Amino acid sequence: MNRQLVLLVSIQNLELQLRDAQDDEKAKELEALGFPMDADKIKQDIDGLLDQVEPRHKGYYKKLKAKYDNPVVPVWDGHCTGCFANVPTSFTSVVHENKVMNCESCGRILFQP
Ligand SMILES: [Zn+2]
Repeated sequence: MNRQLVLLVSIQNLELQLRDAQDDEKAKELEALGFPMDADKIKQDIDGLLDQVEPRHKGYYKKLKAKYDNPVVPVWDGHCTGCFANVPTSFTSVVHENKVMNCESCGRILFQP
């Protein structure tokens, strides 16, 4: 996978984790299951990853983030799993050119799971 995409997927996962960590009840539940829920540490990790994202992708990600809970979504069976629009078949080949692709319908950043 494109390194920029790997970063964006990781950031999105950490942001979801951060939301849980900031929710006292959920954080307690998850901590009991053995997941460390240190909001400050998670924030640091997010910042560290964001520093490695190219500015144009970072800006776009933040814009999407304001609109969607899941700005980065996997392609499943030829569809964007964010809005379920068809993803052009060229997507698969373009992915190999190492580009960050967007859904033509909703704009979310797509990746191949
Ligand atoms: Zn979409």
